[in-house]
Amino acid sequence: MPRVFNFSAGPSMLPESVLNRAAEEMLDYKGSGQSVMEMSHRSKVYEEIIFSAMDLFKEIMDIPDNYKILFLQGGASTQFSAIPLNFMNGSGKADYVVSGQFSTKAFQEAQKYGDVKAVASSKADGFSRIPDLDKSEFRSDADYFHICQNNTIYGTRFSELPDTGGVPLIADVSSCILSEPMDVSKYGVMYAGAQKNVAPAGLTIVIAREDLLGNARDVTPVMLNYKTMADSDSMYNTPPCYSIYICKLVLEWIKTIGGLEAMRERNVRKASVLYDYLDNSKMFKSPVLSKDRSIMNVTFVAGTDELNKKFCDNAEKAGFVNIKGHRSVGGMRASIYNAMPVEGVEKLVEFMAEFEKNNS
Ligand SMILES: *Cc1c(COP(=O)(O)O)cnc(C)c1O
Repeated sequence: MPRVFNFSAGPSMLPESVLNRAAEEMLDYKGSGQSVMEMSHRSKVYEEIIFSAMDLFKEIMDIPDNYKILFLQGGASTQFSAIPLNFMNGSGKADYVVSGQFSTKAFQEAQKYGDVKAVASSKADGFSRIPDLDKSEFRSDADYFHICQNNTIYGTRFSELPDTGGVPLIADVSSCILSEPMDVSKYGVMYAGAQKNVAPAGLTIVIAREDLLGNARDVTPVMLNYKTMADSDSMYNTPPCYSIYICKLVLEWIKTIGGLEAMRERNVRKASVLYDYLDNSKMFKSPVLSKDRSIMNVTFVAGTDELNKKFCDNAEKAGFVNIKGHRSVGGMRASIYNAMPVEGVEKLVEFMAEFEKNNS
């Protein structure tokens, strides 16, 4: 069976060269006589893997020296609890922008821990846009300000970061990390599940400004305490070893391609191919306000539920898999993360044009 173009929102495609390399090294990693899956995380050979993955992250994302990179578990969803536990430690207040399903979950979870305010929401618009922000709603004494930068389910993204003054900005970047350059110094903390753009599921990345660490609430479970993890180089306990190894290979692949500038160019090109087609199609439409369109998750509809379903079924048969929209939204969603080749998007658009011709 030839490899399909997998438009899944996550877990999602990995670069073929990374998979090949992992296959080559499966039984004998660099003459160690063992697979990375079998190694002690305290061994020299494994330490080289985890530390070079951290170094590559730092290099590729241009992470300033006063930030810590943590390799955790539990997914982005666990950080919805860890964030208030670690950072809601001054006034006990936090501001959240509610721009989709994951930010709603983060907002609801944080309410268990303190005075949490939704400073803006686009729920009334079906999350088809990033809400307008009114700075007079922001609380200057909040311990942090939380956004979900790219809304995976709805296909929207912040094209510009909110100006939070002195309040640390905390961003869920699960579905946009490594997709383009980001100015890390503008964030207090960013976090991401790896399974969209970085590695297989199991690894969660947190990048946190060092001065914000060390004030977690006393009740914070030790495994959720970022300071404990930072102080132990993310090896307080067994880290998700194999996922970190794949992360390292993916970072090497990004470097070979030309880093995040090159990645952005590729991703913008892919997104433009799709959006240009959607804007000119008589059948397919993007429901998202154009200034807020994600370059990672492109949502679209064909007009009727019947056509949506027929399109998804036909696409699947033609090798464009997982293109069905999230169950809560319907329609279609093409997730076109880093590893999706330009060719995959071009072929999808050809397929859409053919479908449109045959069904109108
Ligand atoms: C996928 C996703 C999550 C959930 O991630 P898990 O690792 O499954 O917990 C949270 N936020 C965003 C933006 C996502 O895309």
